[in-house]
Amino acid sequence: MADDTMSMEWDSPLYRESLAQFEQVADLISLDANIKDRLRTPQRSLVVTFPFRRDEYGRVDTVFGYRVQHLLTMGPTKGGIRYAPDVNLGEVAALAMLMTWKCAIVGLPFGGAKGGVRVDPTAFSRAEAQRVTRRYTMEIINFIGPDQDIPAPDLGTNEQVMAWLMDTYSTHVGHSEPAVVTGKPPSLGGSVARREATGRGLVSLVPAVASHLGMAYEGARVVVQGFGNVGRYAALAAAEIGCKVVAVSDITGAIHDDRGFDISALMRHADAEGGVKGYRDADEITPEALLGLECEFLIPAAVGGVISAENAADIRARVILEGANGPTTTEADTLLTDGGVFVVPDVLANAGGVTVSYFEWVQDLQNYFWSESEIVGRLREIMNRAFSDVLQIATSRGVSMRTAALIKGIERVASAKLARGVYP
Ligand code: NAD
Repeated sequence: MADDTMSMEWDSPLYRESLAQFEQVADLISLDANIKDRLRTPQRSLVVTFPFRRDEYGRVDTVFGYRVQHLLTMGPTKGGIRYAPDVNLGEVAALAMLMTWKCAIVGLPFGGAKGGVRVDPTAFSRAEAQRVTRRYTMEIINFIGPDQDIPAPDLGTNEQVMAWLMDTYSTHVGHSEPAVVTGKPPSLGGSVARREATGRGLVSLVPAVASHLGMAYEGARVVVQGFGNVGRYAALAAAEIGCKVVAVSDITGAIHDDRGFDISALMRHADAEGGVKGYRDADEITPEALLGLECEFLIPAAVGGVISAENAADIRARVILEGANGPTTTEADTLLTDGGVFVVPDVLANAGGVTVSYFEWVQDLQNYFWSESEIVGRLREIMNRAFSDVLQIATSRGVSMRTAALIKGIERVASAKLARGVYP
């Protein structure tokens, strides 16, 4: 029954790519044809348009907003909300599907979701950001909730946006409902260690990866692209376990020092100067040169598509830990794997963020808050269990870690769907 027209409503380059990736793995594992059809398209897609009053007197813009829930089988749905000038239904749908696999790979009781508002958040005053958030929340309010769909921050949104969303929802239902969103400020029931979770979760895999490859990680050279939320905490965690972070980049430039950086000092510099460029007496290198440095661990933690067929041959890392979503194109992935680079895919490597979001939701539902060491310990345990399951699939079936991760995620979802059956 599957044909191209089935997914037309969600068509976008990213959706086509996500679908192709899913179908390739579905065919490899001979997935039940009915389940395969069912998973190709999201279960719920909401498109809204609403008026948004700007600060300039008399100016009202019409804005597009989206919320897509890919899979309702596993529990509530979970996924970020992005504010970006080019966000569209197809992009949001593709990201919702990826969230389904990510949650299933690490074993969280969620289906995937994603939301977006087509605006340029960099052009907003604080009052405008608040108004657009409250109105968007009202537009999607019947589709979200602690046992229905739980948003989180993504590109262009942050803790403050989540606080406004939580406040709007709570005002509407008549009582405080912190569990409706994650990534809130700790003063509203946000989890400690959420900010560091993705970077820390990623680096918690380093000892297991090193042991699998028979190499030492103490003193191992680490290169990090991107020094935002994911990159900086990955760099910090890597330095904490004894690795040497020898190169770092962000939008301002790339720096290199064979002796390894003091990450706390570099973070202070980046905060004060707006980026890593100009840090002490580090060598400045080009962003392209950074990706081609010889190292044990390369952590792309900035944007998608940075490792492509054009530069894959220049990569001299032993391991790539994907912090960003989609940093490696499909063609580059094959070239790297064939060339002996061990790639830990995004759906596994950066799942620490949604894992600690899950912890935040659990804590909010129970009104009982855990210590930082409990959170970090449980994060490490979940990430490492998922890594060893995926490695086992990769080894036993002779596939890449990316294919193995998707096999794990898709099989988990398929078995839940088969067990629930079809209503009526
Ligand atoms: P962020 O905005 O905090 O940081 C992005 C960093 O990348 C900044 O330092 C920016 O200067 C840098 N950057 C942007 N373009 C660059 C370029 N061309 N070259 C080098 N550096 C560049 O974002 P983030 O939250 O750290 O997210 C980074 C990536 O990780 C995204 O792909 C995001 O989807 C993914 N991710 C984030 C989380 C999370 O919890 N924040 C979870 C999973 C995945």
